[in-house]
Amino acid sequence: MRIVRSVGEVRAALAPLRGGTVGLVPTMGAYHDGHLSLFRAARAECDTVVASLFVNPTQFLASEDFGAYPRDEAADATLAAESGVDLLYAPTVDEVYPAGFQTHVEVAGLAELLEGAHRPGHFRGVATVCLKLFNTIHPDRAYFGQKDAQQVAVVQRLVRDLDVGVEVVVVPTVRDATGLALSSRNAYLSPEEREVAAALGRALTAGASAWRAHPGDAAAASATARAVLAAEPRLTVDYAEVARFDSITVLAGAIRVGRTRLIDNVVLDEGDPPA
Ligand code: AMP
Repeated sequence: MRIVRSVGEVRAALAPLRGGTVGLVPTMGAYHDGHLSLFRAARAECDTVVASLFVNPTQFLASEDFGAYPRDEAADATLAAESGVDLLYAPTVDEVYPAGFQTHVEVAGLAELLEGAHRPGHFRGVATVCLKLFNTIHPDRAYFGQKDAQQVAVVQRLVRDLDVGVEVVVVPTVRDATGLALSSRNAYLSPEEREVAAALGRALTAGASAWRAHPGDAAAASATARAVLAAEPRLTVDYAEVARFDSITVLAGAIRVGRTRLIDNVVLDEGDPPA
């Protein structure tokens, strides 16, 4: 696996490989099995696998954890290589946002709900960096985790609206044995906080059962999830809501445990809504 740091280097590395398909896995690092499942999916379907490793400052609010975000490039490079990544694009902030940078991508409606409402500007940063990565790498396919369902919806909308010509592939959420979705931010949790955080996975599972018992009843599903969360006083709830993103309906939740903010979702329905 090669590590490259500039737009010029990544393009030069890919130039001789354009005869085959290129898969891109955008990441912020601190790899866990969720990331590795994206790498493996890309490896299985593409001739060349590129992972980007970039903690993107523009998707963090000033009050958030950009400075503290876990970074370990050497460990990540080992895991990426073992998972079949061919090229790791790890640019500096200056490479992605050179002096004078002033162009941003706004996915208007989607970015106002749920995560967008709680993290104003977050999806503008996500959409902008994803479009830059697509323009740098020109992948045939880009792999994203269902764990960040709204991010998937934002990227799909951006790809459609701006004719990007990338196939967005969505990979299921990887969880630990307690149902806690794997996340780089789980590294912030103490053992006790990990137990508390597992309530989010339980709440979403309970909400999904309520949805299966009363299909289409968004209020019942979200109330069931909120009741499970309310039983755990050591967390606070940002939201637990049913949301429809294009052709997918999810029950999505965001909680805070101590100083750590975690998100998760379960898919309730895929395809057209009931008539
Ligand atoms: P991040 O490094 O957190 O920005 O995540 C990079 C990619 O990995 C995103 O597409 C995430 O949705 C995906 N991802 C993160 N956690 C998981 C997980 N537990 N299961 C599946 N995909 C994940």
